[in-house]
Amino acid sequence: MTELLKGKPVADRITIEIAEKAENLKASGVVPTLAIVRLGKEPGDISYEKGAVKRAAEAGVEVKSLVFDRDMTQEDLIAEIEKLNEEDSVHGVLIFRPLPKHIDEKAVCEVLDPAKDIDGITSGSLAGIFMDSDVGFPPCTAAACIEMLDHYGYDLKGKKVTVMGRSLVIGKPVVMMAMRRNATVTICHSRTTAEDFAAAGSNADIVIAAVGKARMITEDMLGEGQVIIDVGINMDENGKLCGDVDFDRENPDEGIGAHAAAITPVPAGVGSVTTAVLMKHVINAAEKAADRV
Ligand code: NAP
Repeated sequence: MTELLKGKPVADRITIEIAEKAENLKASGVVPTLAIVRLGKEPGDISYEKGAVKRAAEAGVEVKSLVFDRDMTQEDLIAEIEKLNEEDSVHGVLIFRPLPKHIDEKAVCEVLDPAKDIDGITSGSLAGIFMDSDVGFPPCTAAACIEMLDHYGYDLKGKKVTVMGRSLVIGKPVVMMAMRRNATVTICHSRTTAEDFAAAGSNADIVIAAVGKARMITEDMLGEGQVIIDVGINMDENGKLCGDVDFDRENPDEGIGAHAAAITPVPAGVGSVTTAVLMKHVINAAEKAADRV
């Protein structure tokens, strides 16, 4: 029977650990604070913000929400981010993306101080991941994949890990993080041949799926006894939320579930862990800032 790797116990454990750290920071006069920058009222942003605010309250993190019009100019947005960089009371900044089309997203992200970049959007943070240095933070979803594996006791050392997807948000950073844990990593993307994709999937001990295609990863692309981390959040043809992996959570012992040792469900898997990781990064940023004083 496959083990269902749910996100909630992972998120709850992280929250308890960081709440203690938040208390210690507050006792020394530092209130860990996250600034959320939102342009307009995109439903996805509002719903993520709601979850983040709830998680922040549990973790002892203050949230400062900055809401601007969606037609705000790039110059004004950059000026706001520069102000947040200078504000000592703000330790982490989350900018909701995608930004509206008239704004050069990369230019805006680059203005953020990597020390406050708690979701890995600056090249400073990405360089930090690639160089194993202490600059910035990895993107929360990539970090959440590793948190899931750690929590459920799956050591990556010497394991064959196949990462499906090579985005800067998930695929590439997770490759570097798995390599840092001494995994042997294979990465697949849209130009990988179907034959190589299936071979890389079948041959792995651990599969991390982040292609963003509903149930694209089928039984014939996977092997026996694997640990599968499904990062995908997609809508299927019936408007139902599903992952990238063709796993039927209603019938977990059939199909892929009959062969996998463990798998993260969608929903209630990796997605449930990202806001806890976000708060962990804020606490970490606050600790680093306190050390610098
Ligand atoms: P993305 O930027 O669209 O990247 C998708 C990656 O998958 C690309 O590298 C692409 O290859 C590859 N790919 C696409 N179609 C493929 C195919 N048919 N065969 C092989 N590779 C293929 O997506 P993303 O931002 O990384 O997100 C991936 C998934 O994670 C989405 O479902 C997203 O909703 C979900 N997500 C979840 C969370 C969470 O909290 N759990 C957070 C963020 C995103 P190329 O590079 O060659 O184009």
